[in-house]
Amino acid sequence: MSRVLIIGAGGVSRVCTYKCAQHPDVFSAIMVASRTKSKCDQIAADIAKDIGRDDIETAAIDAEDVPALVALIRSFKPDLVIHLALPYQDLTIMDACLEAGVHYLDTANYEPKDEAKFEYSWQWAYQDRFKEKGLLAILGCGFDPGVTGVFTAYAAKHHFDEIHYLDIVDCNGGDHGKAFATNFNPEINIREITQKGRYYENGKWIETEPFEYRKELNYPNIGERSSYLLYHEELESLVKNYPTIKRARFWMTFGDEYLTHLRVIQNIGMAGIEPINYQGQEIVPLQFLKAVLPDPGDLGENYSGETSIGCRIKGIKDGKEKTYYIWNNCSHQAAYDETGAQGVSYTTGVPAMIGAMMLLTGKWGGTGVKNVEEFNPDPFLEKLNEYGLAWHEKVNVDLEL
Ligand code: NDP
Repeated sequence: MSRVLIIGAGGVSRVCTYKCAQHPDVFSAIMVASRTKSKCDQIAADIAKDIGRDDIETAAIDAEDVPALVALIRSFKPDLVIHLALPYQDLTIMDACLEAGVHYLDTANYEPKDEAKFEYSWQWAYQDRFKEKGLLAILGCGFDPGVTGVFTAYAAKHHFDEIHYLDIVDCNGGDHGKAFATNFNPEINIREITQKGRYYENGKWIETEPFEYRKELNYPNIGERSSYLLYHEELESLVKNYPTIKRARFWMTFGDEYLTHLRVIQNIGMAGIEPINYQGQEIVPLQFLKAVLPDPGDLGENYSGETSIGCRIKGIKDGKEKTYYIWNNCSHQAAYDETGAQGVSYTTGVPAMIGAMMLLTGKWGGTGVKNVEEFNPDPFLEKLNEYGLAWHEKVNVDLEL
C-alpha cells in the first residue's frame, strides 16, 4: 500500500497512471500533478470511466518551482515521485525529493533548456545526497532508456560471461496517417535526433554526423526498415556498468518522408532553440513548431502497426562466441484501446509503473542514484510480460550488425 505522485500529464503520464490505477494493492493512492491541471483531470476522469477507480487526485504544479513542489509533496505525502514531465525538470524534482524525503524515478536524463545536450553527469552528481538521506533515485525507467538496460542486465546475468558488442535497435513500424508528427514531445524528440550521432568503441566515443550511418535491419513482424545510428543516453550508463563492452551503438528507424520533413524544418530554421524576436515577443522556433505539430497524445486513434525495440548482443559464454536478441513488439492499436495513448507512450509508461512497483514492493532497493541495469532484471521482466509488453528472445541468430 503506497502513495505515488506522478508529475506531467502527457501521453506517458496517461499510460503510467492507468497502469498504476490497475494495481490498487500497490498504488493505493495516486496524484497526477502537472502545469495544466485540466489535463490531469482528464486522465483522472478517463480512468474513472474505463477502470472504475475514481480516487485519482490532481493538482497544478510548476515542476521548476522547488518550494511549490516541496509543499505539494509534504501535503500529499507520497512514498515516490514519478517524474513524467520533461527532462528539463529532472534536477528541480530531485532537489524537491531530497528536501521532502521521498524516492524519485524518471524516464529521461537531464537536459538544460539552452543547450541540446544530455548526459548523466548532472544526475549522477546527486549520488551522495540521495545516499545520505537514505533515498533511492531510479534513472531512465522507460523503454529506451529503461527496458533496454534491463534487457542488457538480463543478458549479462543469464546468457553471457562477457558482453562484447551491444546494438540497441528501435523500430517504429507504425503509421499514424499524418504527414509529419513526432511520437513524443516534439521539442525533446527533434533536439535528440538532430544532434550529432555518437557510439562507443574500444574505450572511446566516436562522433558521427547526424544520420551518417544507415543499415537495413529486419524487425520481427515488421520487416526491413532503414535504421540510423544515433546517440542515446543509455549507452553512457551501460558501457560504464558493463566494462567488457567493446562497442555499443543505438539504431532508430526513420522513413524517407520523415527525414525529408526534418531536413526542411532544419533548413528553414524551425529546429532552432535560440530565442528570436517576433513582433516584439521572444519565441523559440522549436517551441513554436511544437505548438503547430500534431500533439503526440492525439496520434493514437488511427495509429496502426507496431513498435519493436530490443538489444542485439554478441559476447562469450563458456569460452564460446554467442549471439542473443531480446525484444518487445507493441501494437499501437492495442495500447490505444487500453489507455487512450499510442504505443510509444505505452512502451514508456508501462516500464515506469513497473519500476515504481519494484521500488515500492522492495524488489529493487538500496540508496543513491541508480540506472535500471544496476538492479535484478528478473522480477521486472516477469511483470513486463504480465502487464502488456511481452518480450521474446532468440539465441545464436544472425544479428545483421
Ligand atoms: P508530453 O510533452 O506529452 O508531456 C509532458 C508533460 O509535462 C505535459 O503534461 C506538460 O504540461 C508537463 N510539463 C512540462 N513542463 C512542466 C513544468 N515545468 N511543470 C509541470 N509540468 C510540466 O511528453 P510525453 O508524455 O510524450 O513524455 C514525457 C517524458 O517521457 C519526457 O521526459 C520524455 O523525454 C520521456 N520519454 C521517455 C522515453 C523512454 O523510452 N525512456 C520515450 C518517450 C518519452 P503541459 O500539458 O502544460 O504542456
